[in-house]
Amino acid sequence: MRSVMAYDPQNIFAKILRGEIPCTKVFENEWVLAFHDIAPQAPVHVLVIPKGAYVSQDDFTAKATDAEIAGLWRAVGQIARDLEVAEPGYRTVQNTGTNGGQEVPHFHVHICGGRRLGRMIP
Ligand code: IMP
Repeated sequence: MRSVMAYDPQNIFAKILRGEIPCTKVFENEWVLAFHDIAPQAPVHVLVIPKGAYVSQDDFTAKATDAEIAGLWRAVGQIARDLEVAEPGYRTVQNTGTNGGQEVPHFHVHICGGRRLGRMIP
């Protein structure tokens, strides 16, 4: 049977969403909050998180509404354009679960850009 980890409302991104911990916000709408990563791996390194309580990419795609999913991905594209990394390009990363190396258990999309990124698969 498929088991999804329960959402922990004390995770750091939940605290950021509630305003209990500060962040350097770059974008917010009804679906998402986006802020600079505290340990940037590229000149632009932003995290986009849904406002809903989803543990991971797996949890999000299983439970979120189509509107939430569309809202998140439209925001990712908008943020990349706003931050002027859409051209010449950028990378989105979603680490999922233990094997994916996910550290914070609130779904987030990394947007990395501003320099030529190395190959990273696997
Ligand atoms: P993950 O490994 O995909 O879960 O990525 C978690 C990311 O969250 C890492 O890139 C961290 O640097 C970042 N991070 C952790 N705490 C904070 C914070 O308080 N503000 C902004 N970014 C954070």
